[in-house]
Amino acid sequence: MTTTCPFSWTEDLPPRIKENEYDAVVLSMKKVNRFGLTTVESQWRLLIPDSREKIQLSGYCNLGPTKQAKIHPQSKLASWQRAVAAFTRGNPKHVTLKSFREYWFRVRVRTVTRNAQGPLHDSDQYSVVDDILSVGGKLSDLSADGLLTLPMTQGESSTPTLSYPSCIPGLGPLRKDALTRCERCDELTAFSYGGHARCLLHARERADEEGQG
Ligand SMILES: [Zn+2]
Repeated sequence: MTTTCPFSWTEDLPPRIKENEYDAVVLSMKKVNRFGLTTVESQWRLLIPDSREKIQLSGYCNLGPTKQAKIHPQSKLASWQRAVAAFTRGNPKHVTLKSFREYWFRVRVRTVTRNAQGPLHDSDQYSVVDDILSVGGKLSDLSADGLLTLPMTQGESSTPTLSYPSCIPGLGPLRKDALTRCERCDELTAFSYGGHARCLLHARERADEEGQG
């Protein structure tokens, strides 16, 4: 038995999930200059409604050498802009990095198996959002029902067993709001109790606590 790695990276490693299509939202997207290259780095959050895990992945669009970096029509970023423009019937050139945060997308997730130095050891491989396949819709239009009935990624269960308690003692009755984030965990949700936004998990958890107490 050999110990080639004297330090533990495990906690910092980006997650690795099954290569597949997922629904996802953009948390951030920014231009980064590194090693003389300009890259647009994006952070994504997968929308897996009944999952306790919050899976966050990165995505990368290369724009080429920093000195002449611009968005070429053949680039991945240009195709992402066209996807949004096709949805809004707008001009792709007017699609800013910031505007990607306004939509949810169907994306393809890929496992990174090598870097510039060569193949990655199995335990170092990680998932990235490889490409936008389509725009799912505008986040502001996404009702709670819409969010909860997003296509399930594995198709095992077409009727997710999602049910929010109708009232949480101590907080208040269930209310449907605009899409916001759970105050306990940042999960996207459109439900609140007495002004407290709760995801399904934290609504149930709180209701269970109260029920036992
Ligand atoms: Zn939560």
